[in-house]
Amino acid sequence: MLYNLYKAQFILSLRNNLYRLIKMTDKNQNDSSENKKSLNFIEQIIEEDLKLGKHTEIITRFPPEPNGYLHIGHAKSIILNFGLGNSYNGKTNLRFDDTNPEKEDVEYVDSILEDVKWLGFNWDGEVHYASDYFDQLYEWAIKLIKDGFAYVDDQTGEEISASRGTPTRPGNKSPYRNRSVEDNLELFYRMKNGDLKDGEKVLRAKIDMSSPNMHMRDPVMYRIKHAHHHRTGDKWCIYPMYDFTHGQSDYIESITHSICTLEFENHRPLYDWFLDHIYEKGRIRPRQIEFARLNLSYTVMSKRKLAELVEGNYVIGWDDPRMPTISGLRRRGYTPESLKVFTEKVGIAKRENIIDVGLLEFSIREHLNKAAQRVMVVLDPLKVTITNYPEGQNELLPAVNNPEDETMGKREVPFSRTIYIEKEDFKEEANRKFFRLKLGSEVRLRYAYFITCNEVIKDKDGNITELLCTYDPLSKGGKSPDGRKVKGTLHWVSAKHASDIEVRQYDRLFNDEAPDSHKDKNFKEFINPDSLTIIENCKAEPFLLKAKAGDKYQFERKAYFTLDKDSNKEKLIFNRTVTLRDSWKKQSK
Ligand code: ATP
Ligand code: MG
Repeated sequence: MLYNLYKAQFILSLRNNLYRLIKMTDKNQNDSSENKKSLNFIEQIIEEDLKLGKHTEIITRFPPEPNGYLHIGHAKSIILNFGLGNSYNGKTNLRFDDTNPEKEDVEYVDSILEDVKWLGFNWDGEVHYASDYFDQLYEWAIKLIKDGFAYVDDQTGEEISASRGTPTRPGNKSPYRNRSVEDNLELFYRMKNGDLKDGEKVLRAKIDMSSPNMHMRDPVMYRIKHAHHHRTGDKWCIYPMYDFTHGQSDYIESITHSICTLEFENHRPLYDWFLDHIYEKGRIRPRQIEFARLNLSYTVMSKRKLAELVEGNYVIGWDDPRMPTISGLRRRGYTPESLKVFTEKVGIAKRENIIDVGLLEFSIREHLNKAAQRVMVVLDPLKVTITNYPEGQNELLPAVNNPEDETMGKREVPFSRTIYIEKEDFKEEANRKFFRLKLGSEVRLRYAYFITCNEVIKDKDGNITELLCTYDPLSKGGKSPDGRKVKGTLHWVSAKHASDIEVRQYDRLFNDEAPDSHKDKNFKEFINPDSLTIIENCKAEPFLLKAKAGDKYQFERKAYFTLDKDSNKEKLIFNRTVTLRDSWKKQSK
């Protein structure tokens, strides 16, 4: 039942997204000259605050927990927070929310710094760490104890959860709730000094055990963890909880607008409660604003699940090009521009929804169409000998680097008597709709000549091994000499000039729209077994030998590709970023 509901909601949201996409495309076309943009609800709040003089400058922040690599959802949050900082001439801080020493690691810190920089953003001043504020947080905890708003609880974790009640039933007060301030201070010092074992006691805020908001039922502020921290080392054996860290860190940094995802909406009263108890007049008081997190179809997004994929070797690492991580997308060939366009198209919503992964693919395709160098690569080669082309002769034919951008210029492609074309571009016999090469018919070789197939050579099993063709020397450059028409245009590569390259064709990692929505099944059961196909010995034109890691190309008529970092001089490896939307027929008009 729940699942069906989820499915229905899912389909509805896919449809809405598609509708929105079409509308946006129309709108972009209509509005491009007017340059008008309607404000999202967060921009409205900011403009209002600036207008009313509540703030003279806005400060936002991006607060990742360094417990995994960032994913496309984080990219949305980065683009939103830094984007607001930029567009209102404000500032954006980068702050690591590092209060969970056991799960965190410098490897993650480094990858996050790299991802934010790669997206093209600069944080204000130094990188911040919540752990830099541990001393201040400790002082505030003492203040709360002294003011009678916090107490040390001896109950176990299970006892605390059991006594918390339910949303419709009030919780029970802890038997330790009315300890004296002196006792609480003494016990809290002992917690801090390492006299107690993990889990033996916690510090809790004294709020309201019958609040309808479960987060207000005496939430835990500090727990004991004898764990080494990647920055503070062994200095602390008590660590503050997220809720007792986040708002205070915002406050310390004078963040004006603390933007987070919807699941924190219920935490907002607590965020405000803690601020109420430490706030000093005249200082900037941060405001928490929630927006809907990004969910993508055919994807899982939580860091925990992504870590499971990495640890279980379902993928080759956090930056596997099939992963929705920023590093995976980068390796796959995505560009910062395409992620920004995608984020813009998704917009900022107040209600949860699921975005069609097709919208992400659309965004990179659009960008690469404008930005990617064209080259010719034959993925599944079939040898073609042009019998009337002189043996030993070579010539260089000019080819356009990008028909969408003249400034990218031209290059020269070598042509000779033996070339490769794609196997699938030839059929001995085919109906009239097959515009590629058939026995006895003529096609254009891109930038080269018209050729006609005269003979098919097969091995003893009947497999086609070679075609014998003739060319029309008057059709040089692919132009018709006498007005006669050929419908098909094929890409090709000169055999003796070709380099062998490896191509990695990626498909979606999951073959279910919402892999983690099934109650009775683990998301890993929906992994697509065909998400990676490796093709060796593809034939590439010589121009591609210049490729450097991260360079992007359109292999004409095939797809967009980017050079993988695993490449070396002996072997170039290309990742398929995204397939082409249009067939070449349309493009070459
Ligand atoms: P996950 O739940 O995917 O593991 P997280 O929320 O635990 O991620 P954090 O490092 O705590 O990850 O997140 C840093 C910031 O990124 C937070 O402000 C969080 O709200 C935001 N964020 C995380 N996931 C998304 C998402 N899917 N869409 C938009 N923002 C996100
Ligand atoms: Mg989190």
